[in-house]
Parts: sequence; C-alpha cells; structure tokens
Amino acid sequence: MLNIVSIVFGALVGSFLNVCIFRLPKEESIVTPGSHCPHCQKPIKFYDNVPLVSYILLNGRCRYCKESISIQYPLVEGITALVSLILFMRFGPTLSYLFYFSFVAALIVISVIDLYHQIIPDVISLPGIGVGLLASLAIPQINFIDSLIGALLGGGSLFIVATLYQWLFKREGMGGGDVKLLAMIGAFLGWKAVILTILLGSLIGSIAGIIIMVLKGKDFKYAIPFGPFLSLGAVIALFYGQHLIRWYLYLNR
Ligand SMILES: [Zn+2]
Repeated sequence: MLNIVSIVFGALVGSFLNVCIFRLPKEESIVTPGSHCPHCQKPIKFYDNVPLVSYILLNGRCRYCKESISIQYPLVEGITALVSLILFMRFGPTLSYLFYFSFVAALIVISVIDLYHQIIPDVISLPGIGVGLLASLAIPQINFIDSLIGALLGGGSLFIVATLYQWLFKREGMGGGDVKLLAMIGAFLGWKAVILTILLGSLIGSIAGIIIMVLKGKDFKYAIPFGPFLSLGAVIALFYGQHLIRWYLYLNR
C-alpha cells in the first residue's frame, strides 16, 4: 500500500519537475501562473494535469489545439515515480528516502535542462550543495566530514575532469556548471562517490560520444552536455557504489 503511495507521490513530484524544466531556463516563476499549453496558451484544467494518466487519456495531444504534448512530460513523470518507488523500498518512510529522492529529482531536472540548453542552473546546484551538507548531519548513511570533503573534491576536480574530457574528446567540454554539479553530488554522496561519478560519467559519456559520432559523422557539431552523464554516474554510485568499490579493491588485492 505504502509502495503505491510512493509511486503516486513520485509521479506528482515528476509533474512539478516538468514545470521546473520548462520554466527555470526562461527564469519564470515555478509557482504562478498555473500550467498552460505552450502552443495555444490555454490554461490546463486540473483533470487534464494528472501525471501519466492525462497524457494517455488525451492521446498525447492538447485538449484544445490538438498540438502534440512532448513525450518528455510522461517520461519525466514515469522515471520520477519509479525512482521514488525504488528508494522507498530501500529506505522506507525515513528522512533518508526524502534526502535521496530530492537528490535524484534535482539530477533529473539538471539533466533534461542540460540536454536542451547546455546549461546547468545554479539555482539547483548551489542550494543543493547546502542541502547535502546540512542533511549529512541528520541521516545515518553519510557523515558531515565525508559530505564536506565530497563537496570540496567535487568542486575542486575541475582540473582533473577538464583534462580527462580534453583527452577523451580532443576538445574542451567542461563548464563551470558541471563543477558545481559535482560539488552537489559530493555533498550528497561523499568523496568516494565523487571519484566513482567522474569515472563512470566520463566512461558513459565517451561511449555515448563515440556512438553519436558514428551515427552522425564526426563533423557533427552538437556539443554533448556532460551533466546528464555525471548525473547517471551519480545515480549508479548511489545504488551500486559500495559494490563497485569492493569489487575494485578485490581485483587489486
Ligand atoms: Zn494547446
């Protein structure tokens, strides 16, 4: 029963994340006005704004102008609902669940905005660093020192990651936004996870880069944003970090 509540809660939060994704890059308020169709500007009625369900009932189109609604909306709602369920099953109704759920929710917003606009909004990453540091005092999974070293290492790793990226892609690709994102990841997950996130993010990013180059030709000019790969690396570090580190130490005995 509580699992279902966590799914519904996740879908509702996902719906709010879509608003953030749409409005933050335009520096609009995320509270007012209410949702409206980006095409015909008509306000969206509450019964047309039910996460996931409305998209299916409306067949993916605006009720008024019949313009198709971006698949991003149900995707973000579905992924957020799934993340909520997985974290709830792991941590139960605890502060830790809320802590990690808000962390992954922030990563989802950052990743989608970075994909569309090649920016990582400071209004998420900078407060995120503070939230991570403060929350480390309240939850058993991480202590403050680990969180602080994580934030400093993440923030200070500009040089390491910039060098790695340049080596992998033969061009400059790291932005200041990525550094603040890494500092936030460090504050939430600790310093070991920062190292793991950089390694995983670079690895997944370079594989994706090679695939895109093969598919689009190497003259393809779209700068691949790093934020989504760092975020993915952080989520893997969150769920499998302990296993990966143990496995690595085992291999190097
Ligand atoms: Zn419309």
